[in-house]
Amino acid sequence: MSRILLLGGVGDALSIARRLGPQDIYSLAGLGKRPADLPCKLRVGGFGGAEGLADFIAATGIDLLLDITHPYAAQISANAARAAELSGVPCWALHRPGWQAGAGDDWREVADWAELSAALAPFKRPFFTLGREPLEHLDSIPDSQFWTLRSLDGHPGNARATVIGARGPFNLADERALFAAGQFDVLISKNSGSSATEPKLQVARELGLPVLLLARPQLPTVEREFSCVEGLWQALQGLRPAEIL
Ligand code: NAP
Repeated sequence: MSRILLLGGVGDALSIARRLGPQDIYSLAGLGKRPADLPCKLRVGGFGGAEGLADFIAATGIDLLLDITHPYAAQISANAARAAELSGVPCWALHRPGWQAGAGDDWREVADWAELSAALAPFKRPFFTLGREPLEHLDSIPDSQFWTLRSLDGHPGNARATVIGARGPFNLADERALFAAGQFDVLISKNSGSSATEPKLQVARELGLPVLLLARPQLPTVEREFSCVEGLWQALQGLRPAEIL
């Protein structure tokens, strides 16, 4: 019977983990919530780089590696591709397409934090939805700005910043209310492509606000790549008849 190691940390990964078998393993970095009642095993924490992951694959008899990590979690995806090579097991990855700007959108891509800071100069009330990174810059907020940050981690913020600890999905009505209350004049986001966090883009469009998008990292080429989670699931079913999944 084949044994799958699923690298997760996003909703699409959890939706596959909930359909795996008792011999399979769902792996999380350990930053977020630990799901209960999984039909497969759960392990939490890093492996110690690509070599550590390759050792884990050998020690546990894994014969398929699934990378369904966040599109900006570039390190673990690089490790997965390398560990698969070292171990001689296939790696399949979900590479979810990014969001595309539509009519009325003013989206500007920035390469990194330095470009983002420069692009933010004309704005007064930015709303950051980038995860943890802006927390490292709370002490260097320009006098002309007040920041609102949303990330998984709670944080007290400071006189120039409010930090909202929250986990998606976020609905349109709540996002509209948040933008109104915060009086944001620019939205900053990763281009995750997830429907769970997409309503903020609609609100920015409705309000005519610019959106600064952090460019996506380069991800490695692996044996099979899928653009949607159900496509990946169909391929898994082809590999393992339904009765043993
Ligand atoms: P990263 O920079 O690519 O990975 C950092 C290290 O965390 C990896 O080298 C690995 O440690 C460990 N790691 C990451 N994912 C793991 C997993 N599924 N199982 C075991 N170890 C894992 O990733 P990150 O940006 O810190 O993200 C960490 C996790 O949060 C990922 O699973 C990702 O899917 C999820 N996430 C990330 C974002 C984001 O924007 N980056 C957003 C939502 C969710 P070792 O080298 O020691 O193995």
